Amino acid sequence: LVELGMPGPVLARRPSRRVLVGDVPVGDGAPVSVQSMTTTVTADVDATLQQIAELTAAGCQIVRVAVPSQDDADALPAIAAKSQIPVVADIHFQPKYVFAAIDAGCAAVRVNPGNIKKFDDKVAEIARAASAAFTPIRIGVNAGSLDGRLLAKYGKATAEAMVESALWECSLFEEHGFGDLKLSVKHHDPLVMIEAYRMLAQRCDYPLHLGVTEAGPPPQGTVKSAVAFGVLLGEGIGDTIRVSLSAPPVEEIKVGSQILESLGLRPRRLEIVSCPSCGRAQVDVYRLTEEVAAAFEDFPIPLRVAVMGCVVNGPGEAREADLGVSSGNGKGQIFVRGEVVRTVPESKIVETLLEEALSRDWSQRC
Ligand code: SF4
Repeated sequence: LVELGMPGPVLARRPSRRVLVGDVPVGDGAPVSVQSMTTTVTADVDATLQQIAELTAAGCQIVRVAVPSQDDADALPAIAAKSQIPVVADIHFQPKYVFAAIDAGCAAVRVNPGNIKKFDDKVAEIARAASAAFTPIRIGVNAGSLDGRLLAKYGKATAEAMVESALWECSLFEEHGFGDLKLSVKHHDPLVMIEAYRMLAQRCDYPLHLGVTEAGPPPQGTVKSAVAFGVLLGEGIGDTIRVSLSAPPVEEIKVGSQILESLGLRPRRLEIVSCPSCGRAQVDVYRLTEEVAAAFEDFPIPLRVAVMGCVVNGPGEAREADLGVSSGNGKGQIFVRGEVVRTVPESKIVETLLEEALSRDWSQRC
């Protein structure tokens, strides 16, 4: 296992090959990237580019677009040219769209071998075209669309069946000298998904794209993804992640980014340390926490800001925070590094926290 050059406790990473998705490296110790997928009709170029811009602003590093029709394929050159982040074309049924995506300048193509008819016959041609254009390919196996041959053999989409499908497709590309591949074996059950990725990680050295498919709406989908990614990334497995939520895609990026921050796999941005509230609370902790989080969301330095509902356990419990507030009797005790520096009326808490944050030099903190 290789180690990432990050401060603090460091998770070891599984060694792998590296692919380049546009300018984003995936695998071989590269920072784990966060990706999502647009929900617009791809043929609607303006709407798709608008959503890609929103995803980019939220921190998305790679974006995937669905290509179910010729109109969508025709839109790919404009989208690939104007997107600020690499665009991956997601092809399910028609090999001809793979060639269109490569010609369009997409940064990568995702194919689902279980869904592409006569895919195996086309591998030589696809490998040639992708190789000439330096376009990596993701072999994306999904439990819901497993190859019929493997379903018959295993009875259902087991971890073994998904891994066999992925490695079989890899072998077809390898026969044609093409190894610019990344793999995914997604299942809606986090336990099966974890087992599949562990198996895959042992049997190949391709970079892995993690995903719990059809994870559902938040909080269910959020928790399923966080649990599964946490286990796998904790073991060094996983090079790029996509959180699948029945929610706007920007939410997927927020969750994915926070998973990586929680594991120390990317530098933390704002961290809110807030108490859960209890019978001792003398302020609406939930409301105050939301206001503080909104006020600090774009603060240029990644601070740890505490919001505590009473003065009993305020500064003491939150002494690891850079600054914070503990409330009582309509007032807020503002503390910096565990020391109370001011007491202000409740209505002034948020602006005072911002004033204190702006007036201090945070460069020396650890
Ligand atoms: Fe309760 Fe105070 Fe602890 Fe918040 S900080 S949970 S209000 S004791």
